[in-house]
Order: sequence, then structure tokens, then C-alpha cells
Amino acid sequence: MPNNLVYIVMDSCRYDSYARAKTPNMDRLAIGESRWSYASWTAPSHHSIFLGQVAHKAPTKVLASEVYKQEYALWVDRLDIPDLSFTSFVPELSLAKMLQSQGYRTVGRVSMPVLNPFTPFSRFFDDYQLMPDHNDFAAMVDLVEFSAEQPSYYFFNLGETHYPYMLKDESLPRISGVHGVVKGMDGAVLRSSDDSGGEPEFFSAEDMAMLHEQQVRCVEHVDGLIAELLAKCPRNTHVIITSDHGECFGEGDFFGHGPVMHEKVFEVPFLEAHRP
Ligand SMILES: [Zn+2]
Repeated sequence: MPNNLVYIVMDSCRYDSYARAKTPNMDRLAIGESRWSYASWTAPSHHSIFLGQVAHKAPTKVLASEVYKQEYALWVDRLDIPDLSFTSFVPELSLAKMLQSQGYRTVGRVSMPVLNPFTPFSRFFDDYQLMPDHNDFAAMVDLVEFSAEQPSYYFFNLGETHYPYMLKDESLPRISGVHGVVKGMDGAVLRSSDDSGGEPEFFSAEDMAMLHEQQVRCVEHVDGLIAELLAKCPRNTHVIITSDHGECFGEGDFFGHGPVMHEKVFEVPFLEAHRP
């Protein structure tokens, strides 16, 4: 039977947040390397991921078509399906479709509304759901169940590492030593210095450092759940852990990702291994 595939995207997790976090469970798989996402925000980046592309290494003096060809060839070892090639992905250019035609059960669980089941992202998944909570990797892990008869593909998009970097049951990021409140859960990343309705200000350097720390803490939380997930995975499971894009915490006067041209928004962690 081909290998099971577990593909985890820690949304918005920039490389150094992963590198700073204590991740003993991910480390059991592999030490993640710094790579580059194909896009600066969730939708185009996931489109690329769903094509079967993984975060790239930005190699020089080589044709892009050669890089893609080599990249697709890696699915042979990941899945242990010897006759896979780029043509296995044609014409749909879909990882889920290719896996379905190889007999996989395909399951997607996503946290970002932009990936909801009414969008084309859900195509070729037998079971695809937008999680009711923004950050509920624990519930995603709970549902995981492998079969001895049929290979499985689990795709997980995690909200824990996305702004506002909350863990479950937290209503706002912890702000220690900073007066005021962080306003706006998505989009309006402005801070009111005294919450009295005065002119909002952009995050201070102190806020940015706190938010960055919060993302590191969320990676550590995710790592704890990775232990539970790995305990459920049979030996013939290939695991990929990465991010769809990074984040700016004040670099270049940017916060967040999306309409941002900065290398911190493209630098992502990437690790993959067969389950140890
Ligand atoms: Zn994203």
C-alpha cells in the first residue's frame, strides 16, 4: 500500500518563529529548513500547495521548468508509488485528485475562511471542512483515523499561528507591560493607546515584539499536538510541516502579510520525513 500523507500548513508561521520555538516533537521527524513560499498570502499560496508544489529553495542558474520537474519527482519517494511522474498530475494539476486516483481517501480540514468548502480548494477531497473555530488543531487531530485497507491523505491548515496568535479559549493576545488594547481581529491591525476612542496608532515596536513572541508560543502549542498526531500515524506515513507564507513584525514598517513585499513574508519553515 502507498504511504499515507499528512500535510500540515501552520498558517502565517514565519521561519524564525518556528526556529525559536521549542519543538521536540517536530524535531523527532526532522529539523525544518528555511525555504520560500510561492506567494505572500493564503489563497495563492494554497493554490500552489494544492498543485503539488512545496516551498522552494530559490535555486540559481537553473530553468524553473527543471525545478518543477525535480520537485514533482519527489512525490515518488514521499508516497512510495514508483510510477508517479508529473503526468500523473495532468490535466487537473491537483495533488488531491492525483491521490484520489491512486486510491487514497482525501480529507481536508482548514481554519482560514478564504479556503472554505464553497471555493475550488475543496475539489477532489472526499471530506473537506472549514473548522468552526479559528484555531482548533486539537479537534483536527481527534478526527484522524487511518485504515489498514486504504491509504489516507490528511491536509490541515492551522489557524493557531495566524494573527491574532491565540490559543483556544483566549480572547485576545496576552499583552504584558503594554497599556491599551489590540483592536480588530482581522485587517484592522491598529492599536489605540488608551482605548478612549482617540486616533488609532500602528503597532509599536513593543507590540510587534509581543506579537512575534505570541506566534512562537503558538508554534510550541502546535508541537504538543503533533505528538498526539504522530502517535496515531502508522509507520508508512509521510509527514510534511510547513507554512503558506511568513509575516512581518515591523520589518520595513509592515505588519502581517498579503500586500507586502518583504522577504520575511516569503520565508517559511519546511520539514518532511516518514514517521519515525
Ligand atoms: Zn495564510
